[in-house]
Amino acid sequence: MAIKPRKVAIVGTGLVGSSCAFSLVNQGVCEEVLMIDLNEEKALGEAMDLTHAVEYLPKRTKIYQGGYDQCGDADVVIITAGAPPKIGQSRIDTLDISAKICNSIVEPIMKSGFDGFFIIVSNPVDIITYHVWKISGLPRNKVMGTGTSVDSARLKTMISEYLDVDPRSVQGYAMGEHGDAQMIPWSHVYVGGKPFLKIMEENPDTYGKLNLDEIEYRVSQEGWAVFNRKGGSTYYGISSAAVGIIKSILFDEHSIIPVSAILDGEYGEYNVASGVPAIINAEGVKDILEINMTEQEKSKFKKANESLRGYIARLGH
Ligand code: NAD
Repeated sequence: MAIKPRKVAIVGTGLVGSSCAFSLVNQGVCEEVLMIDLNEEKALGEAMDLTHAVEYLPKRTKIYQGGYDQCGDADVVIITAGAPPKIGQSRIDTLDISAKICNSIVEPIMKSGFDGFFIIVSNPVDIITYHVWKISGLPRNKVMGTGTSVDSARLKTMISEYLDVDPRSVQGYAMGEHGDAQMIPWSHVYVGGKPFLKIMEENPDTYGKLNLDEIEYRVSQEGWAVFNRKGGSTYYGISSAAVGIIKSILFDEHSIIPVSAILDGEYGEYNVASGVPAIINAEGVKDILEINMTEQEKSKFKKANESLRGYIARLGH
């Protein structure tokens, strides 16, 4: 019996898509990477460049340019095709174009016989995740967005810098929209198992002086802080987050990652995809964690979802 090579297809081989490919190949996450882009020459160039890296990597990966008809045996398709916001635009400003692009992508992928997992990165990611779920007809555990995974990494980085600890020793989530309406349930931020709020209380002259509203705002805006400095995109953080999700699926890791998941009653929410901590394994979104938020946190999370539902309705869902 031959073992099937693990295959990841990337649609959109621009800055984010090619960074996802580089991260996949460097970490040896799969045996095949299929690169698809409207601009076939660009996809081919990226595939060639990445192939030239293999000689110096611990594991061989086959990387090639191709089309949607080759997605039938893919385990995962990452969607990063889109038109990133121009300076001064918001993520929401790119909704109509992203939705239109996804219409042209998802149909031929489903026609190829694809029955794997969609990971959506294209913005506005929560709304596009819901859109792809609807038009693909796949069950909700098989479609997820990167959501607030990168925002949560930014939150952990900030806390780790205040306390001078490894960000991986900080637990906590940004939740809701990957955008302005995101929120942080501070009652669930821990450092090495100790509540961050308790650490603040015990250190009134130092950490106790931190302004949580200000940190929450900075976390939500940190993508723009990178975007503006780099002149138009963020890609290393987000591609690492996307590949972290893929690793958890392909290696059945059961990692808890804040992804944009389709909610069907969790947190009392329906008809929305929103950033929530979820157990990610070989089934995709295996389970959504419902953390106990304070009334104030619940109300912020609800507000974020209401706003997302408004945009989802605009797409006719
Ligand atoms: P980019 O312009 O570098 O790349 C986009 C690629 O998509 C281009 O190569 C383009 O040819 C391709 N494309 C466009 N229309 C297509 C179609 N119909 N079919 C196939 N390919 C198509 O942009 P980028 O910086 O890589 O950003 C891509 C997307 O990812 C944007 O929507 C951006 O907002 C989003 N993004 C999301 C996050 C996040 O946290 N979720 C972070 C960064 C970027």
